[in-house]
Amino acid sequence: MNKILNSVSAYKEAKKVIPGGVNSPVRAFKSVGGTPIFFDRGKGSKITDIDNNVYIDCVSSWGPLIFGHCDSNVSSEISKAIKTGTTFGAPTLIETKIANKIVDMVPSIDKVRMVNSGTEATMSAIRLARGFTKRSLIVKFEGNYHGHGDSFLIKAGSGAMTLGKPDSLGITENIAKDTILAAFNDINSIKKIFEKHHKNIAAVIIEPIAGNMGLVKSCSKFLTELREICSKNNSLLIFDEVMTGFRVSKGGAQELYNVIPDLTTLGKVIGGGLPVGAYGGKKEIMDYVAPQGPVYQAGTLSGNPLAMRAGLATLNLLNNQAFEKLEKISSKIEKGFLNSIKKLGIDATVCRVGSMMTIFFTKQNEIKSYHDAKDCNTDVYSRYFNYMLNFGIYIPPSQYECMFFSLAINQEDIDKIINSNFKALQKIKDEEYINWYNTRKISQ
Ligand code: PMP
Repeated sequence: MNKILNSVSAYKEAKKVIPGGVNSPVRAFKSVGGTPIFFDRGKGSKITDIDNNVYIDCVSSWGPLIFGHCDSNVSSEISKAIKTGTTFGAPTLIETKIANKIVDMVPSIDKVRMVNSGTEATMSAIRLARGFTKRSLIVKFEGNYHGHGDSFLIKAGSGAMTLGKPDSLGITENIAKDTILAAFNDINSIKKIFEKHHKNIAAVIIEPIAGNMGLVKSCSKFLTELREICSKNNSLLIFDEVMTGFRVSKGGAQELYNVIPDLTTLGKVIGGGLPVGAYGGKKEIMDYVAPQGPVYQAGTLSGNPLAMRAGLATLNLLNNQAFEKLEKISSKIEKGFLNSIKKLGIDATVCRVGSMMTIFFTKQNEIKSYHDAKDCNTDVYSRYFNYMLNFGIYIPPSQYECMFFSLAINQEDIDKIINSNFKALQKIKDEEYINWYNTRKISQ
């Protein structure tokens, strides 16, 4: 068993001055139990906690670190910015360079505005959609996450046709009623919503590959039909590619599925490990943004040279070979997991697109909807997580997040990840056997 005494006391201290001891809720390990691990340093594929335990990192800071920790190219660009000024609050050449790079890489983007987080990107994108269409309603999908903006923390009202309800204290009924929830991968739910509200729908926002209910792929016909419905009704289609952008392919999910949204939101990889987001799209829509147009949006640190240099260095390195290598790494891990699941006869399935992957504990062969995801056994996941942690593999502390593999993962790491997965599943199977044996004894 790994000793984590320092993490335990660090957590106690943190809780005194930080709500819940963490600066973002999932870090608190609430859904897997135990104390969150406090990290001290990372290099390549490995991270070391404050008790000196070393883990292979399969989270990559929730996606940004596609080249692993402290990549030398990215770090040297950051060092240059530190020496020449980290922020001016005024234009710099690097902003146009990264904008050009994004426009080159992402099929739907003619113009792009940099912001500081994924949340800021999605909040700004829906304001722009509302300003451009002069309509108020936003449609989002159950199980998709678009950051913590008020319009997104919404749950379904009673019945699919009703307007949304706040899903957090602090969000007013008035804001909630401008968001409608649809069922992911279910085109009929979208059709019904458009039948009733088509004149008022400013935009439909979607994670084209959902990563926030575990990894759930959208069916390609579903995305194509969604595109058609939005176009027919003059509503904008927003792809939230904060996770998938520069991750599942050079041009994101829109390139993989060949479906072109009106607006795209980006984050994570685009900042190379520093806090960045962006939104972009068609020229005529983006020209609605201030100072060119009437939709206001601003940011003191937006486009700062530190984050821009880290982001540009990362995007420059993301060539076809990088994606081919990432695919090899990730598919080997997926195959290893699937073999072990089969060999041990565990009720589990794996869903993967590129370097994003989730193991779901379920009897279902495929996870297609939020309800499929919700039916998974989160109790088994939490035991699995803790076994993996003890074997030195850091995976997401929640069934409803995905693993993100990095290019720093080598063959030795892959073997260790696959072996640890086998051992963790074996332990789960043994526990199940013991439970079965005990209940059998009691019933005799
Ligand atoms: N959109 C998606 C699809 C995300 O996954 C996230 C964060 N995981 C966000 C938006 C919000 O990004 P941030 O945490 O940078 O605000």
